[in-house]
Amino acid sequence: MKIKIVKVLPKYLKPKPDQSKLGFGKHFTDHMFTMKYKEGEGWYNPVIEPYQLLQLDPTSMCLHYGQEIFEGLKAYRGPKDEIYLFRPMENIRRMNVSAARLCMAQMDETVFFDALKQFVVLEHEWIPREPGSSLYIRPTMIATEPALGVHPSSEYLFFIIAGPVGAYYAHGFGPTKIYVSQEYVRAAPGGTGNIKAAGNYAASLYASRIASDMGYTQVLWLDAKENKYVEEVGTSNIFFVIGDELITPPLGGTILPGVTRDSVLKLAVHLGVKVTERRLAIDEVIEKIENGTLKEAFASGTAAIISPVGQIFFRNREYIINEGRTGALADRLYSEILHIQYGIAEDPFGWRVQIA
Ligand SMILES: *Cc1c(COP(=O)(O)O)cnc(C)c1O
Repeated sequence: MKIKIVKVLPKYLKPKPDQSKLGFGKHFTDHMFTMKYKEGEGWYNPVIEPYQLLQLDPTSMCLHYGQEIFEGLKAYRGPKDEIYLFRPMENIRRMNVSAARLCMAQMDETVFFDALKQFVVLEHEWIPREPGSSLYIRPTMIATEPALGVHPSSEYLFFIIAGPVGAYYAHGFGPTKIYVSQEYVRAAPGGTGNIKAAGNYAASLYASRIASDMGYTQVLWLDAKENKYVEEVGTSNIFFVIGDELITPPLGGTILPGVTRDSVLKLAVHLGVKVTERRLAIDEVIEKIENGTLKEAFASGTAAIISPVGQIFFRNREYIINEGRTGALADRLYSEILHIQYGIAEDPFGWRVQIA
């Protein structure tokens, strides 16, 4: 599929933001990729065009019935100005899994990758140079058939936007405080917890606000059926180090299969760490914090790579992990993955994809 390119006139290019104050999700590049789908016709009109407002009919189905999915990945600038993506095919495949679950249109992996690559290369000047900064990329698909009545939309819009983001740890790599939600759940068996559906995040806001009002950074989600097993933290996967073992809950339909989660698991095995995927009850976590065998807890995700957990609030009590400090394994995994992503370290897994 040939992608049409309509460039912004040089005089309308946006000024680049100060690289030392990027934050997350505040700045966006000059262009966007869009492509449309209609039942019977398939995908059509792939175009990279100036970043602009979308025109939607008020009856567009995404606005009423939530057929909306997204992805999140990053482009990194290497020491010689090379541009890398990290395991992009994983995001592309996961987006198709999300689409299938919500009865949305599938995309050809090659067309998707080609669009991603051409778009990022066109916007290469937006990939920041500050250590730890990157270009965050947000592929999104929405249902656009103009009709009410609950049924799968016959039309979709796929778009890719991107924006420079700062190093997640502007003030150093420090542990967060998390709050165990016992009243609210993120994902139930048979639901949509294993896909990046927009509605999952809307449903998580209430518990996040409770946690934030209580002074905690994130919610630690328990399983919906027994309210007992640890599943995820905020919008990240969760890991514990108990004894000399790295433990994470198994994917089972209610956990988002994070690309970073998978990378942590493979890297830990490569480093000779004992790795186990098993269900872990919150009571076991608390017991092992108390008896001193739980050494580390950390979250994993594209935004921060690894985010250590220093405190857990559960049943009106606060439990401190590793004296509130970043653990040795979290630290090691963080820098190993970071160095692979930026083209600084060897990449024994072939995760890095150089696009320019
Ligand atoms: C995106 C996401 C993750 C992390 O996935 P990565 O591919 O590692 O970025 C974990 N949990 C939830 C709920 C997510 O939305």
